[in-house]
Parts: sequence; structure tokens; C-alpha cells
Amino acid sequence: MIKTPVLGIIGGGQLGSLLCKAARKLNIKTCVLSDDSDAPAKKFADDFIYGKYQNVNKINQFIKKIDVATFEFENIPVSILKKINKKIKVFPKPQINAIVQNRFLEKKFVNHLKIPTTNYKLIKNRKDIKDISTLLPGILKTTTLGYDGKGQYVIKKLKDFEKNKINFNKEYILEKKIDLKKEISVIVTVFQNKKYSVYEPIENVHKNQILHTSTIPAKISYAVKNKAKNYAVKIAKKLNYIGTMCVEYFIDKNNKLLVNEIAPRVHNSGHLTIEAFNISQFENHVRAVCNLSRKPLKKIRNAKMINIIGSDLLRFKKKKFKKNEYFYDYLKNQIKTNRKMGHLTTLV
Ligand code: ADP
Ligand code: MG
Repeated sequence: MIKTPVLGIIGGGQLGSLLCKAARKLNIKTCVLSDDSDAPAKKFADDFIYGKYQNVNKINQFIKKIDVATFEFENIPVSILKKINKKIKVFPKPQINAIVQNRFLEKKFVNHLKIPTTNYKLIKNRKDIKDISTLLPGILKTTTLGYDGKGQYVIKKLKDFEKNKINFNKEYILEKKIDLKKEISVIVTVFQNKKYSVYEPIENVHKNQILHTSTIPAKISYAVKNKAKNYAVKIAKKLNYIGTMCVEYFIDKNNKLLVNEIAPRVHNSGHLTIEAFNISQFENHVRAVCNLSRKPLKKIRNAKMINIIGSDLLRFKKKKFKKNEYFYDYLKNQIKTNRKMGHLTTLV
């Protein structure tokens, strides 16, 4: 009998939980490493290690237990991923994170492929905030470690740097604020034999910079749909990507498609793929990193996903759901404002 591999997953949030569930369906065992002793994915993993990501002993313990490693969030120190990658394979490759963890390098990389992004400028210190008038109104973002709008400031005029008490010991990019018509994302999975599956573009609505709803089909032209899919594949190929990744896009009022950011992992906007497709983004990720074969991707139904944020969970927990509604409670130990607590997918 061929031994099934043990998949190591770094990070124990809802994405980790959903990866564990997908792995179980494929009879693949999982071991989650998390810096939260009570991480949601603990309930879904076959094995669980609690430890800080910099703790060498814990990392070594993790390596001993697994055959291949992946991660559910991109902000793990690249040095740690590289250390793991010396012993066992890490997919996607750690060097990819060095690019996409940093908003400046990420945009430079995308532009290099002749794919447009917002206009931007690297702000390394106070001196760099001159000649920025063409970027205003803009959004100042820390180059690293932001998510769900954290580490972002709207800058309408120069004075706003003072008003927001910007700490110039950190590095930022200032991006031109786009007059958004829509936001979409494209999820693509690349397998180890270089074959890939691309999901159709998903239309996303954000509230307070946090994803609120995701819907398929996206109400955009055929031409924009194709362009978005082509850009995502081009990016994945150039990165030598293995696994599931997501490209977030802006569409401006002139229907111009711009890359916002790349997520080197499964993505919140892809939760609806669990019910709407024959193979979810999570199953495809597990298949790709564990070197299983690609299966043809088929849409089953159109769908809409709503994120359940903070105390809204309590209301959803009391609800009765219809047959076409799929409610997920992430089983987090604590409700917090603006924390993603669950989601609801409705097939239409
Ligand atoms: P995060 O890493 O927090 O997801 P994003 O850069 O994707 O950061 O920003 C979150 C959301 O904020 C975007 O999805 C979009 O709705 C809004 N946003 C960010 N940058 C811009 C911009 N330059 N112009 C207009 N809206 C923006
Ligand atoms: Mg984003």
C-alpha cells in the first residue's frame, strides 16, 4: 500500500480548518502548526502543534511529523519557510512569499509582466513625501503585514500624514485611490505537472476594507473576464507557483482592470467554490501540494457568499437555513469586532 502523505499546514484559522476538511475528504492526514493554542483548525486537524513560528524546536517537531508543508497565511517569516524547505518541500515556494509579502515588490513584479496596477510610490522616510500630488487622494499602506485594511490610511492632503501620526520607522507605499466600479478576484490552482485550473472571476464587495460578499457570476464583460483570468495565469506561471493562489483586482470607472494584490494561498472570496464547483479551491490546493492529479473543473451552480463578522455570528447561529444555504461557524474562541467569525454561501 502507498503511504498517504501527512500535510503540514502553518496557521490555524478558518482557511486552515477548511484545508484540513478538504484533506480529510482525500484521506490525507494533516498536522497544523499555530501560534494560537486554541486555533479553530485544531478541531479539524489530525495533529496539532502549538508554538511560535520562530521557535526552532517547534519547527523541527513539525518537520518530523509531515511529508510536505503549506500555509494558510502569507506573513510567516520567509527564513522559517526556507528552513522547512531544506528538509521537506514547501508549496508554494518560500521565495514567492518574499515578493508578495511586500506590497512594493509585489507591484513591481506585476508591472514587470506588463500588467497594470494603481500608481504608487515607495515611502521609506519623511523625505519621500514630496512630489506625490498625482497620487492624492491616496491610500498609504505598510509594505508588509497588512490584512483586512489594517495598516492603511487615507491621505487626501499632506497634512494627513501628521493627522494619522504616521510612524516613519516603517516602510509604506502610497497608492492612488481608485474610483472603483467593481472589485473581482480570480483563483487559480497550479499542479506539479504544470497543469492548472482557473475559476471564473468572482465579484467582491468590501465593507470597511473587509470582504463582505463574493458572487458568481461576476457582472463584467466577457473581455474583462478573460483578461482577469489570463493575468492570473501569467502571474502564477511567472512565479512558478504550485497550489491555489488568488489575484485581487480593481476595475475602475473606465473599465480598466488593475491588479490590487496577490494572495499566495486559498482566499476568502473562494469560499463559495466549496458548494458551487465540483472541486473547491481547498481540495485543489491539497491536490496540488500533495502531487495528486488535476481533475477537470466544473461549475455546479451560481452562488453568493456573505462573510459573518463579529457579533453578527450570534444572529446567524439562531437562524434556520434552507437547503441551498450553507452556514459555516469558524468556532473561534472569542467574538471580536471586525473578526471573521463565519460565512454563509447560498446557491442560486
Ligand atoms: P488587504 O491586504 O487588507 O486586503 P487591500 O490592499 O486589498 O488590503 O485593501 C483592502 C480593500 O481596500 C480593497 O479591497 C479595496 O476595497 C480598498 N482599497 C485598497 N486600496 C485601494 C485603492 N488604491 N483604491 C481604492 N480602494 C482601495
Ligand atoms: Mg486585499
